[in-house]
Amino acid sequence: MRLVFLGAPGVGKGTQADKAAVHYSICKISTGDLLREAVRNQTPLGLEAKGHMDRGGLVPDSVVIGLVREKLADSSNASGFILDGFPRTVPQAETLANVLNERGVRLDRVINFDVSREEIVRRLSGRRSCPKCQATYHIDFAPSKMGSACERCGEALTQRSDDRRDAIEMRLRVYEEQTAPLISFYEKQQLLSRLNGAESVDAVYQNLIRMLAAHQTA
Ligand code: AMP
Repeated sequence: MRLVFLGAPGVGKGTQADKAAVHYSICKISTGDLLREAVRNQTPLGLEAKGHMDRGGLVPDSVVIGLVREKLADSSNASGFILDGFPRTVPQAETLANVLNERGVRLDRVINFDVSREEIVRRLSGRRSCPKCQATYHIDFAPSKMGSACERCGEALTQRSDDRRDAIEMRLRVYEEQTAPLISFYEKQQLLSRLNGAESVDAVYQNLIRMLAAHQTA
């Protein structure tokens, strides 16, 4: 199973990718997670990426493509993957097609998660995380029982620098300009399915699994 999860920041594709990866025993490749790890470890790649990420802009294609190539090579023996947050530009999508072609494999499905702009802003601006154990919370939907501290390890919770208002606005603008064109890119290849991402996590997940099962038997 080789999948791409597409959608604006905050639609919940990372959460759904975590659950689906466990369900299908495949690996999740999140470029956002890989880049944040590089930033935390202060690698040369992380240092290059940090400024772009903090502002809510995209990291250059060349950097991200190198990262994904490496991960796809690592996962070549696994039974599949979910790409979360990649591709985000048409050149990235074209490179992905070439890389898969070189390996003699194809994408099975691209799922686009739809959520209104208002809901996205609410989700992203309330998101908090623990810098120590990486647990995630939301001030309205999933607050920590310990207020502004992590209920797992007690560390003070922080907000991702790109979840601040100005960075959110920038990320949504970048999404509309650079990533949204991928919807028609994959629609033309008859690979695209759309899911309403505004429902509960469990409801979206059930719809996702049902939809993928329908495609597997088709
Ligand atoms: P995410 O966690 O997917 O929202 O990604 C966080 C940030 O990482 C984005 O706002 C970008 O700065 C960067 N990033 C993640 N994936 C990509 C990508 N495929 N291309 C360029 N930048 C990316």
